[in-house]
Amino acid sequence: MNRRLFLLQGTAALAGAATLPVTAPAFAQEGTDKVVKTEAEWRKQLTKEQFYVLRGEGTERAFTSPLNNEKRKGTYVCAGCELPLFKSETKFESGTGWPSFYAGIPGNVGTKVDYKLIVPRTEYHCRRCGGHQGHVFPDGPPPTGQRYCNNGVAIMFVAA
Ligand SMILES: [Zn+2]
Repeated sequence: MNRRLFLLQGTAALAGAATLPVTAPAFAQEGTDKVVKTEAEWRKQLTKEQFYVLRGEGTERAFTSPLNNEKRKGTYVCAGCELPLFKSETKFESGTGWPSFYAGIPGNVGTKVDYKLIVPRTEYHCRRCGGHQGHVFPDGPPPTGQRYCNNGVAIMFVAA
């Protein structure tokens, strides 16, 4: 059994079979595979730093993530539910101290406007578990001109 299928089935067991029958093939029902957990469940699964960022919309200190220097080919997945969020081809050196990407994997990154600072920012998160990832700014490189400024603790790198 591959790890993702196992994860989905485990999630279904936690969330109750009514939301995702364990017999359903993984990804068969686009948009109905939400990962929903209680705060206590997330606290048990995640590290303190991951919980702070993913579930509390916190921001890690700049230049603290080893993923800043990750240059291998691969995929960056959500640290909460392992949904692939970014491809290594879209990673670039922004100089900000956070892993940065010019595009998310289509359909897997959701956004909302965040008013925590005086200037509204666009927050983005994992579409499946809702885990906060970072903010997207319109000052990135071509071809999109977008800069997804990601917290390193909120993602995990899977080498190709
Ligand atoms: Zn997720």
